Amino acid sequence: MSEQPILIIGAGISGLSIAYHLQQQNIPYLLLEASSRAGGVMTSYHDQGFEMDAGANTIAASPEVLQFFDELGLSEYLLQASAASKNRFLVRNGQLHAVSPHPFKIISSPYLSRQSKWRLFTERFRKPLPGISEETVTTFVSRRFNKEIADYVFDPVLSGIYAGNPDKLSIKEVLPALPKWEETYGSVTKGLMKNKGAMGGRKIISFKGGNQILTDRMASRLSTPVRLNSEVTAISKGAEGYDVQVLEQGNPTTIKASQVVFTTPAYITANVVKSLDAQLSKQLSAIHYPKMGVLHVGFEASAIPQPVEGFGFLVPNAENLHFLGAICNSAIFPEKAPEGKVLFTIFTGGARQEQLLDQMGAEALQNKIIEEVSQLLKITAAPTLKYFRRWDKAIPQLNVGFGEVRTAVDQFEKKYPGIFISGNYLQGVAIPALLQYGKTFAAQLRKK
Ligand SMILES: Cc1cc2nc3c(=O)[nH]c(=O)nc-3n(C[C@H](O)[C@H](O)[C@H](O)COP(=O)(O)OP(=O)(O)OC[C@H]3O[C@@H](n4cnc5c(N)ncnc54)[C@H](O)[C@@H]3O)c2cc1C
Repeated sequence: MSEQPILIIGAGISGLSIAYHLQQQNIPYLLLEASSRAGGVMTSYHDQGFEMDAGANTIAASPEVLQFFDELGLSEYLLQASAASKNRFLVRNGQLHAVSPHPFKIISSPYLSRQSKWRLFTERFRKPLPGISEETVTTFVSRRFNKEIADYVFDPVLSGIYAGNPDKLSIKEVLPALPKWEETYGSVTKGLMKNKGAMGGRKIISFKGGNQILTDRMASRLSTPVRLNSEVTAISKGAEGYDVQVLEQGNPTTIKASQVVFTTPAYITANVVKSLDAQLSKQLSAIHYPKMGVLHVGFEASAIPQPVEGFGFLVPNAENLHFLGAICNSAIFPEKAPEGKVLFTIFTGGARQEQLLDQMGAEALQNKIIEEVSQLLKITAAPTLKYFRRWDKAIPQLNVGFGEVRTAVDQFEKKYPGIFISGNYLQGVAIPALLQYGKTFAAQLRKK
């Protein structure tokens, strides 16, 4: 194996995980980051005793991921979700409805119409339609269940994960188990019963002080420090390996490497690989990253007559509110707010309503959201804390057609051996998936 360091582009959690695990395998690496800090989307801030995260708020950690946090010396900062956070709520007709994490329990809730409950109950008897290559979430769910279940259950849940539009999202990409169960067992509900324990063992966690501590710690454990302010602009074939153009502190320079790993968002990777593969570049730049706003609001607990004892609440698009959902941070992790206060993180924008961010302007949008949340929860006073973070390109949308991107990436990697394209649009947006990918990648490279 060549001792030339493996060049990793982008020091978000994906790039940090790859670097960390290469180091564990004694494989030399060089991690380049365009901005002046490592961590990417992971951004935490503090004010008046509140701890806020503009990126990932919660991490569904498997035992393996928890062990990794321990290895990083982070166990003492680990916060485990309260028992109350098992309660989840959906909004319908201006009210919160408790819905059990167990999908069948929705049958006993007034949230859905009788007809939908019947469709849910009888799904197992519906004939499967094998051989469909790619469907949207709405088409799949309407076919197996009905449109109400698509609009009032799947729409808000996918808002919560992707800030996505189920009329466009590919079921195969965002909920791959469902079409697989239809294919294997002939029914989604049968598949669910047979795989009841599949997500077992995962714990919802966060870190005291904010989740940025995770990426800060990973960066600090690297023996080759992240090279900050180093923006990769282009890549070409060199006499040996690849020539990577970098703007380092604003100065152009070329780094030679035989192995290069991209962890940058698709639209960045698209620009860099353009001269090698214009077609792939076009496909990558077509992946939609909608705008999002993250609004943190803190209240006096006394201003909320009926506190939300649960993880949070999600809003179906059909409700026509100006936000997608909210996490009740202090109900999940009491340490996130000072004594006697309550913290919510509210999400707006995304594929369904990104136009709101420009049409309304930040201030008017925040006020509208606070008005709607206050009405919903019957809050009697204004927030004592308000923080807003705008993301111009937030979460990649794995819409129908994404399978072609995967194929194009595979073909590109075969044509240009030594270049690896990764990132949350390929490996999964959740933090555990990105941590796991770094480990798998390093192990596979070790074997070569
Ligand atoms: C609002 C929001 C809420 C979320 N909530 C959750 C959650 O609760 N739980 C969860 O598990 N996940 C959540 N996610 C998803 C998760 O945070 C992301 O998928 C993950 O952090 C992405 O990490 P990454 O390293 O792949 O990308 P990024 O964090 O985007 O990192 C890419 C890095 O590449 C750098 N870069 C860009 N261009 C160049 C260049 N030309 N040269 C060099 N470097 C470059 C960037 O500066 C950046 O540091 C959320 C995401 C968002 C946006």
